[in-house]
Amino acid sequence: LLSGDYDLVVIGAGILGASSAYHLKKNNPSKKILLLDRNPAAGQGNTARSNAMFRDTFSSKDNQILAKSSISYYSTLENIGLVKTGYLWLLSDDQSKKSEAILNSMQKNGIRISRFSKIELSAIPQLVISPQGEEADLINAPQIHEGCFGHDCGRLEPDRLTNHYVEKFSNLGGNVAYNAEVKKLVIGSKKDLGLGGEPFVWQEAEAKSITVLHGGSLGTINSKAFVIACGAWTNELLEPIGIDGHVKAKKRQLFKLRAEKGSKISSLLSVSPIHSGNLPFLILPKSACFVKAIPQNAEFWIGCDAEWGEPFINMPSKDIDLEYRASSEYYSLNIRPILNQYLPDLSSVVPSQMWAGLYSYNTVDYIPFAFQEGNVIAVGGDSGSGIMKGDSLGRIVASLYSGQDESELYGGTYYKTSKIGFTKRQVEREEWVL
Ligand SMILES: Cc1cc2nc3c(=O)[nH]c(=O)nc-3n(C[C@H](O)[C@H](O)[C@H](O)COP(=O)(O)OP(=O)(O)OC[C@H]3O[C@@H](n4cnc5c(N)ncnc54)[C@H](O)[C@@H]3O)c2cc1C
Repeated sequence: LLSGDYDLVVIGAGILGASSAYHLKKNNPSKKILLLDRNPAAGQGNTARSNAMFRDTFSSKDNQILAKSSISYYSTLENIGLVKTGYLWLLSDDQSKKSEAILNSMQKNGIRISRFSKIELSAIPQLVISPQGEEADLINAPQIHEGCFGHDCGRLEPDRLTNHYVEKFSNLGGNVAYNAEVKKLVIGSKKDLGLGGEPFVWQEAEAKSITVLHGGSLGTINSKAFVIACGAWTNELLEPIGIDGHVKAKKRQLFKLRAEKGSKISSLLSVSPIHSGNLPFLILPKSACFVKAIPQNAEFWIGCDAEWGEPFINMPSKDIDLEYRASSEYYSLNIRPILNQYLPDLSSVVPSQMWAGLYSYNTVDYIPFAFQEGNVIAVGGDSGSGIMKGDSLGRIVASLYSGQDESELYGGTYYKTSKIGFTKRQVEREEWVL
C-alpha cells in the first residue's frame, strides 16, 4: 500500500517527470518529493517508444532555446549513448524557397547549419536526387534541390537519459515508486471546513491528495503540490478536476529494417560524404519520411509525418501495444513507395520490427507547455520533441514551483517561465514539426 504525506508529488516518470523531479529536489533539498509511475520502471511510456533523436533546428526561437540548452547539457553526459550524427533535411525546390527565411533566422540565432547543393548530395551512395517514372509521378515525389545539415543534432538513448535523472533524484533523497497508478487527483478547499462536498465555489480550491492503485490496493497520498508529467495521458487526471490538459494524442509508428552483413544497404549505414563516420538522420522531401541509421546495431529506423487520417485522441488507453499497434500495411502502402523513390535499396527490405507510440500535441503552436493552476503544475504538449527539451522543461517546472519569473537554463540562458504557460503565453509557433 502506497500512502503518506509529501511536499510534492511528481506523477509520471517519463523524461519530463524525471527531469522535473531532479531539478525540483536539487532546488529544494529539504522537501519530501515522490516521483511515481504506473509502469514498472522509469521512461517506459512514450519516452521508450520514441525515435530518440535530438535537434536544435527549429523554426521557433523558443524551441531553439529549449532544445539547444538541453542538448548542451546532454552533451556533457557520457553514458546516454549520445551521438551527433547531424540531421540532413533534403529539400525540394519549393520547400527550399519556403524555408529560406527560417534557415536564415536559424543561422542568425546561432544554430549551426550548413547547406549542400544537389551536386554535393549526389555523393551520398544510393540516394536518388531526381526520382523518375510512373510511381514517382503517382506519389508526386519532388526532386531534391538542396540539403540543410544541422550539426548539433543526433541520437541518444532515452531510457538511459531518464534513468540519469531518476538516479540523481534518488541520490538526493527523492522517493520513487513504480507500479503505482494514480486513479484521481482529489480536490478540496484550501481552508477545509470539514463540511463535506468542499470545495464550494466560494472557497479557494486546491489539490489535496491522489488515490493510487499499488500492489492491488488503493491508497491515499497527501501532498502540498503536484506535478502532472503524464505525457499523452495528461487529460485523464486534469480534466476530471476542471483543468484543461491542453494535450491531444496521436499515434505515430516506427519501423526497423535490419541491414544484413554484406548487404547493399549495410554500406549505407556509416558512409557519408556529408558528415564523417555517420550517415546523418535523413529527412526526405516527401511526407517528412525519415531514415535513422544505427551502425552498431546494423539497423535503420524509418517513419514519416502523417497529417491527415490519423485521429486525435483526447483520453488515450494506457495499453499502447493493445490499442495503437503499428501495421505492416501502413508501411508498405505509405512509406515504402516514398523510400523506393529516394533510397530504392532500402525499400526492398521488409521491416523486422515495428511499434507505435503517442505524440502529445499542443495543437495551437507545437511548443511545449509548463503551467500552474493553484498547487498543480503541468508539463507536456511537446508535440513529438520532448526528449530533446527535457532538461530545460524540468528546470522551468522547478522555477514555476519556486515562483520564479525566469528560469536559468543550462549554459546560463534565462527564459521567462510565463512564456510557455497559457495565461501569458508568448511563443513563436513551430513550423518545422517532424
Ligand atoms: C514514435 C515517436 C517518435 C518520437 N520521436 C522523438 C524524437 O526523436 N525525439 C524527441 O525528443 N521526442 C520524440 N518523441 C516524443 C517523445 O517521446 C516525448 O516528447 C517524450 O517521451 C515525452 O515525455 P513525457 O515524460 O511527457 O511522456 P512519457 O514518456 O509518456 O511519460 C509519461 C509517464 O506518465 C505515466 N503516467 C501517465 N498517467 C499516469 C497515471 N495516472 N498514474 C501513474 N503514471 C502515469 C506513464 O506511465 C508514463 O511513463 C517521439 C514520440 C513518439 C511516439
